[in-house]
Amino acid sequence: MTDKAEEEKLACPSCGKPLTEDEGGWHCECGFRAYRTMRGTEITPDELMKIFAGQGSELSFTSKAGHPYKQKLKLSDDKKKLLFDIHSEDTGLNCPKCGKPVLEYEKEFSCEDHDFRCWKNTRGHLITRDELAAILEGKCGELGFTSKAGKPYKGTLKLSADKTGLDFAFIDRKKDGDTK
Ligand SMILES: [Zn+2]
Ligand SMILES: [Zn+2]
Repeated sequence: MTDKAEEEKLACPSCGKPLTEDEGGWHCECGFRAYRTMRGTEITPDELMKIFAGQGSELSFTSKAGHPYKQKLKLSDDKKKLLFDIHSEDTGLNCPKCGKPVLEYEKEFSCEDHDFRCWKNTRGHLITRDELAAILEGKCGELGFTSKAGKPYKGTLKLSADKTGLDFAFIDRKKDGDTK
């Protein structure tokens, strides 16, 4: 008698044989291994199939520092394990909160521990690394933004009070000669 779980057995992405499932996750005689939980987040068979197909969805994880973040999983090049799909580059900047490197991702800047993070596209303005460096030093000048209605406006960005992100501020034009 074949039960449902048997019918839905996942095929190994490396060799195509049916994966063996145990408490810890899935494995195959060819050396493939996937863990059922990664950093405290459960990987479902459905998700595993998506990852095999290169269509992993964004999963919610919690960093060591206790901050939630989303990340996709992908197969390693040899297709024998799952990896975090991180496309990031070191910005050379340090996190204002914990001092760890700030990394540049496709759509955001984020500390390794994700306690500081900000969208690269903020109010229609794409923040560059140089601008982020200036913002973290509190020396950000005037930037051009675009409202949802498509109207351009000026303002500046600064580190939020809790140092976990950025705050927008209009530039106070009343102060004569102040170009800060
Ligand atoms: Zn295999
Ligand atoms: Zn940090």
